[in-house]
Amino acid sequence: MYVSIPYAYEAPVSQTLFDRAAAVTPGGVNSPVRAFRAVGGTPRFMVSGSGPYLTDADGRDYVDLVCSWGPMILGHAHPAVIDAVQAAVARGTSFGTPGQGEVELAEEIVARVAPVEQVRLVSSGTEATMSAIRLARGFTGRAKVIKFAGCYHGHVDALLAAAGSGVATFGLPDTPGVTGAQAGETIVLPYNDLDAVRAAFAAHPGEIACVITEASPGNMGVVPPLPGFNQGLADLCRNNGALYISDEVMTGFRVSKAGWYGIDGVTPDLMTFGKVMGGGFPAAAFGGRADVMAHLAPAGPVYQAGTLSGNPVATAAGLAQLRLLDDAVYQRVDAVAGQVAELVGEALNKAGVPHRVQTAGNMFSVFFTERPVTNYDEARAQEAFRFTAFFHSMLAQGVYLPPSAFESWFVSASHDDAAIERIAAALPAAATAAAEATQ
Ligand SMILES: *Cc1c(COP(=O)(O)O)cnc(C)c1O
Repeated sequence: MYVSIPYAYEAPVSQTLFDRAAAVTPGGVNSPVRAFRAVGGTPRFMVSGSGPYLTDADGRDYVDLVCSWGPMILGHAHPAVIDAVQAAVARGTSFGTPGQGEVELAEEIVARVAPVEQVRLVSSGTEATMSAIRLARGFTGRAKVIKFAGCYHGHVDALLAAAGSGVATFGLPDTPGVTGAQAGETIVLPYNDLDAVRAAFAAHPGEIACVITEASPGNMGVVPPLPGFNQGLADLCRNNGALYISDEVMTGFRVSKAGWYGIDGVTPDLMTFGKVMGGGFPAAAFGGRADVMAHLAPAGPVYQAGTLSGNPVATAAGLAQLRLLDDAVYQRVDAVAGQVAELVGEALNKAGVPHRVQTAGNMFSVFFTERPVTNYDEARAQEAFRFTAFFHSMLAQGVYLPPSAFESWFVSASHDDAAIERIAAALPAAATAAAEATQ
């Protein structure tokens, strides 16, 4: 849905940059959701970030509730992360050889997440899930993959069927450019429906290589797994000779020291990571059972590689950030998330706006519907037009929300009382705007 709203006057420098960008880049952005198409108006071009704040090209600052879609869990430009990056850059930016930083980052991941016995570093979450799927197919000798509607696993061809995130925002069931052959081995099922998974295994005996799921979905808004769902997936996979892949690119090292695994304790065969583990740089990973990972080249026959995999600057940033993520940091992030979620609920209640604030650890989002949201169809049934009005009111008051009703909100340990006060002060007008919004 494209909504045309004349907000350009608020951000003349951003508008000029967006016009220049549109001339040389499709849609003016390098990742679709940044273009504000779901909410209309001019995307803000950011020039700097500090703690919980972002500053745009017009010199306005915002309390950031996106945190680069999760990675900036310590806030922007954290001094210890910046120092580690500067030291790494000074030593050289890429060698194309193994390096100590990669070993230390892998050791840190293995130490934090018990099911990960071995890990391979890559540069994006997309690469991580793509490679995990290839490995699962290579390991099992089977072709089919089960995924869930509304779960987003990056722009992997085989997984761009009923995906969430930017795809949910645009309401595209699929995308041109993915062939029937590429998506044909993908079975898309409704989220939180174990019976559907059971039926799929029964219909395709010996054919399903893996089930991939977001550990707790955040790409259709926040829709946590119902009690027993993840364990049910793990059991069904084990009983049917398939691998259970838990995609923790969003939740990993964000919702606890060990990600969503640290919350529900369900043991996957393979896991994928990204976002927080890169400290704001392109670093991601997949890992899990040693006997499965042993199938990966050069130890085994399943090919996977990357010129910049384990890049020394990215690994230094990720390692510096992970080493700072202790219990106190997670307590702080959880507390901030709880506070902001409660403030949002209070303001919307006061304004009489039908809504639900759904949470999963320290991730949360607002659905403009009164009914519980447990899957993608229910997420899409919300009154997303109310979000548009809410979003622009918050933006005008200096609070930067995800520019889509189908994304998780993220906070950081640097969100202090002043930042929370600004959010609290902005909410009443935004809630009123949501109440008065018409389709
Ligand atoms: C962000 C995300 C990805 C893709 O990661 P990129 O680094 O954007 O390629 C995959 N899975 C999940 C759950 C994500 O949130």
